[in-house]
Amino acid sequence: MQMDMLRQSSAQVVIVRFAPSPTGIPHIGNIRTALFNYFFAKKTGGKFILRIEDTDQARKVKGAEEAIEESLKWLGISWDEKIIQSEFLETYKKAALELVSKNLAKEEDGGAIRFIAPKIGKTSWTDKVGNKLIEFENSDIEDFIILKSDGFPTYHLANVIDDSRQNVTHVIRGEDWISSTPKHIMLYKAFGWKTPEFVHVPNILGADKSKLSKRRGAKSVLDLKKEGILPESLLNYLMLLGWSPKDDREILSKEDLIKEFSLENINVSPAIFDERKLEWMNGEYIRKSQISPSASLRAGNLKSKILELSGDKLKDIESLVFDKFLELAQTRMKTLLDFEALVTPFLGVQPLKLDSEEKEIAQKLAEKLSAIEQWNNEAILFVFKEITQEENIKMGIIYKVFTGREAGLPLPESLEILGKEKTLELLK
Ligand code: GLU
Repeated sequence: MQMDMLRQSSAQVVIVRFAPSPTGIPHIGNIRTALFNYFFAKKTGGKFILRIEDTDQARKVKGAEEAIEESLKWLGISWDEKIIQSEFLETYKKAALELVSKNLAKEEDGGAIRFIAPKIGKTSWTDKVGNKLIEFENSDIEDFIILKSDGFPTYHLANVIDDSRQNVTHVIRGEDWISSTPKHIMLYKAFGWKTPEFVHVPNILGADKSKLSKRRGAKSVLDLKKEGILPESLLNYLMLLGWSPKDDREILSKEDLIKEFSLENINVSPAIFDERKLEWMNGEYIRKSQISPSASLRAGNLKSKILELSGDKLKDIESLVFDKFLELAQTRMKTLLDFEALVTPFLGVQPLKLDSEEKEIAQKLAEKLSAIEQWNNEAILFVFKEITQEENIKMGIIYKVFTGREAGLPLPESLEILGKEKTLELLK
């Protein structure tokens, strides 16, 4: 009795896989598929496999496998098992020959092996996305190659063999693969294996409503990392591309996602990648982040992440000054790179070109500011007000005299942080 129960529960363990071909740097659409697999495994206490499908040697790109792993790791996604298909050529070949011996496939002149697809009837399955019956006329499916003359299996054969021997229960992949699925089901039947559940996830479209693709410049996870997006916010945002929780929450932590994810809530229509929305979400996460390790011992704080990206430009800022600027900037940032953009004007790295009126104002500012004894933003603001009245000018001019810009971080507060000496230097 107990054994039975054990056997039954082990048969129900969810096993999913992310099966990228290392043909380039994975774009966010590819990674979104990985995330759906990962969260389904986590939600159900199942297993998540990484499978590198490198059977098309001609299209293999150097560094692609590393980029796939780096993207996943940066997002905090780990896998329970990893295989690389090119290490199992014998397995695929043996299986192809088995079909030849059963007269379900035939050897061609060049040594390639072609599967003989059934010609009558239909091949169908109920897709988990929208619980939709998808049906193909077998007469529409031509005999197809399963083993190439170079001894490598085609995608169809290797994919089916691995899903079967790795006991994959749910094939969660992009809807582009729907047209391959009848071929896969035919292969499962030919081998006498059980077919997994199929979950074909709608595409992600770009702002122009065309499908995201590498050719169209779809961004990779690693591009977005360089642009100052946090992994937590990208993870959250990608999960909402094609899936949503039952309520209308948008900010979901990894733990929330594990709790909430379900295949039933995958949307049937395509999602649109909206970079502005991602930046908004990133801003939300930036505001929730710890500033520096002095605030807490938690690793991966905002400061170290900013330094990782913009270190060269910001390395001369004194640590305490950095922290105070960050506190001021935190509510105004959408990406980590925004910090550099907000703070650079106060570093005096680029001498400003001022006209004669502005030079005169700079002179006056220097005189009045150097007379301040208690250096704080109120005293600084008082000086600004005096000068705007005396000279009959707008506050914007003062901003420009200091930074060369019209707007940015609040000026008196920024100058307080910078200190009197550096402020006067900046005016020079
Ligand atoms: N290697 C395929 C790809 O690059 C895998 C598709 C699938 O998940 O079956 O997306």
